[in-house]
Formats: sequence, C-alpha cells, structure tokens
Amino acid sequence: MRVPFLAGNWKMNNTIRESLNLVEELIKNTSDVKDREVVVCPPFTSLLAVSKAIEGTHVRLGAQNMYFAEKGAFTGEISPLMLKDVGCRYVILGHSERRNIFGEDDELINKKLKAAFSFGLIPILCVGESLQTRQEGKTQEWVKKQVEIDLEGLTVSEVEKMVIAYEPIWAIGTGKTDTPEGANETIGMVRSLIAGKTSYDIAQKVRILYGGSVNDTNIDGFMAQKEIDGALVGGASLKADSFTRIVKYEPLVKV
Ligand code: PEP
Repeated sequence: MRVPFLAGNWKMNNTIRESLNLVEELIKNTSDVKDREVVVCPPFTSLLAVSKAIEGTHVRLGAQNMYFAEKGAFTGEISPLMLKDVGCRYVILGHSERRNIFGEDDELINKKLKAAFSFGLIPILCVGESLQTRQEGKTQEWVKKQVEIDLEGLTVSEVEKMVIAYEPIWAIGTGKTDTPEGANETIGMVRSLIAGKTSYDIAQKVRILYGGSVNDTNIDGFMAQKEIDGALVGGASLKADSFTRIVKYEPLVKV
C-alpha cells in the first residue's frame, strides 16, 4: 500500500512571515491526519523558518529546485548539501517552469536527480507534455522519453524511493485539468515503464502523483483512481483552507 502524498509547491510566493502563517495553520488543520504524507515546498528564503516551524510535526519539507554541484562558483544556485542542511527531505526537480522558462533539459535533470540521491534527498520528478504534444496524440510517447532520460543510470533502490509527478503543462495554473481517467492511464504507463526497468514489485512502491490545477473540489476524483498516489499542487496550496481539504480528500479507499 503506497502512502498518499500531498505536496504544495508555493513557487515564488510568500515572505517568511507569510510562509510561517500558512504552515502554522496547515499544521493545526491537519494534525489529525495520520495516513498520508503532507509536504510543503516554500521558496528558498523561507526554508529555514518553515523547517523550524514543522519540527516534531507531521509536515515535511521540500525545496523547489537545486543545482547538482555540492558547492562552488555557481552564482545564484543552491546545492543539495545546503538543502539537506536546512532540513529538506524532498526536492522538486524538472518542474515545467524550470524546463520552459529556465531552459533545463532532461540531461541536466538527470544530473540533478543523481546529486539529490547522493545527498540523501528524495526527488519529486516532474514530467508532462505541452498542449501541442497532447493535440498531436503523443502524450505517452513524450512522457516515456522524459522518464527514460531522467532516470538513466539511477539504481533500483533510488528509483524505488523517488516520487514522480505527471503534470501536463497545459493544466498547470490554467484551471484546466486532465480527466482523472486520462491521468490514471498516463500514470499507469509510467508505472509499467518503471516495472520494465526494475521489477513489478518495485514499481508498485513508487509514488506517482498528478499535478495541474488540482483544487479542493476536484481532488477526490483524482485520488479515487488506482494509479494516482497523490497530488502536486500549486495555486491551491497557497491557502490553508483549500490545501487542508486537498490533504483530507475522500475516500481513502480506491474504487
Ligand atoms: C505546479 O506548479 O506543480 C502546479 C500543479 O500548479 P497548479 O496546481 O497551480 O496548476
């Protein structure tokens, strides 16, 4: 049984004070949640404050990006060592905004994945197709290629630990979503691909999320799908009430 995983990607939002207000309310609202993993990914400037605020609670910390080197002359970058040092357990890698706005390619993302593991961080790898790729009917082909390159050279035990988020680019921040059934199908394809690279049993352990305009009214539909193990949430994670409802999706049992 995979533990459901609900992660909030705050992107470039929230000062330190705002981050603390949000996470403190989230901790209070979800303190009764025992059967799911709750993760927040604040901007770098809030990581230390949020790390201290979640100490001893059920909420876990993730970063939104990192470079692959441990240290050195990489102005403006953050290293895996620094993220570990500040208390991160997770790091989002390959988000479509990193790929499209900042030109990150799968080869770079592969290096980042390896670096994350070597410092004991667990990557949340994002993959997903553009609207054009979708319209051309090439979604699965595209996502398969991304996963193939991004996972190149990882060990079986690394793959087993990682989290993958299928996030169609056209659904991010647009209010448009994939259908629960469509997302389930693509995520099922990713799981089969991983089974082929590792084994059926390992693939059954990997948590694969859906992301793209998830909110407090559509979460239940996604979570009812067998292959969908959680959600990576942008906009709706910025309000404690909506993210609380997402964390408390119903029902737990898949239909
Ligand atoms: C995201 O940034 O990963 C995301 C899914 O954003 P949103 O929920 O706002 O679409």
